Amino acid sequence: MKTRLITTMMLLGTVLATLGDAAESAATKRVALVFDDGPRPADAEPLLTLLAKEKVHVTFSLVGDRVDESAATAKAIAAAGHEIANHSQTHSHPRDLDDVALEREVAGAQEKIRAAVAVVPRWYWPPFLEEDERLRAAVARARLKIYTPRHLVISMDYDRTVPAAEILRRATTDVRDGTVILFHEWRKETREQLPAILAALRRQQCEFHTFSGLDAALPGAAGTPAAAGGK
Ligand SMILES: [Zn+2]
Repeated sequence: MKTRLITTMMLLGTVLATLGDAAESAATKRVALVFDDGPRPADAEPLLTLLAKEKVHVTFSLVGDRVDESAATAKAIAAAGHEIANHSQTHSHPRDLDDVALEREVAGAQEKIRAAVAVVPRWYWPPFLEEDERLRAAVARARLKIYTPRHLVISMDYDRTVPAAEILRRATTDVRDGTVILFHEWRKETREQLPAILAALRRQQCEFHTFSGLDAALPGAAGTPAAAGGK
């Protein structure tokens, strides 16, 4: 009798634990913040300080030309535990480049980042979020993958006419499990709004990941094409 009671309680415990997990995973949203177009020391350094204070790791999508200019900043980003993605060598539109230039844009930036930072990016994050067959082939040849978010929220901070309050509103609206939220390292207003953005996202039960962290948490992401309009 006692054994049966214990068995029943154990079963009940398992059911409750399962329900608890389901409730928690339904409420928690795993998101990734990405900061494009760096590194620039004057922008990256205060951003790194802020992210360290907030205990949040993000993805910095770096441009090869800027890594050439500011290798120490690129290293500091990696040393702080953030992920580095390859955001091309010169931030050009792929359609404006011939095959040789496109190859250099992808593989060249990969080599620059590897040499400067001693990390090998896993992900290519296309400038302007533009991709086509030719770019996909160049990315594959460089042993990279284009990071394809399940869902993308664009803060619009690349548009200088979009005010700080609107960046905050956009960055915290329609955020779902698996969302990537796109920002730019150089936008001062984004940095100023970041504590408010993170607080609002935490109130929405968001949990912050890098691209690789999000990819591990949500394996086999459906892979909807990235929406146009980013920079
Ligand atoms: Zn960009």
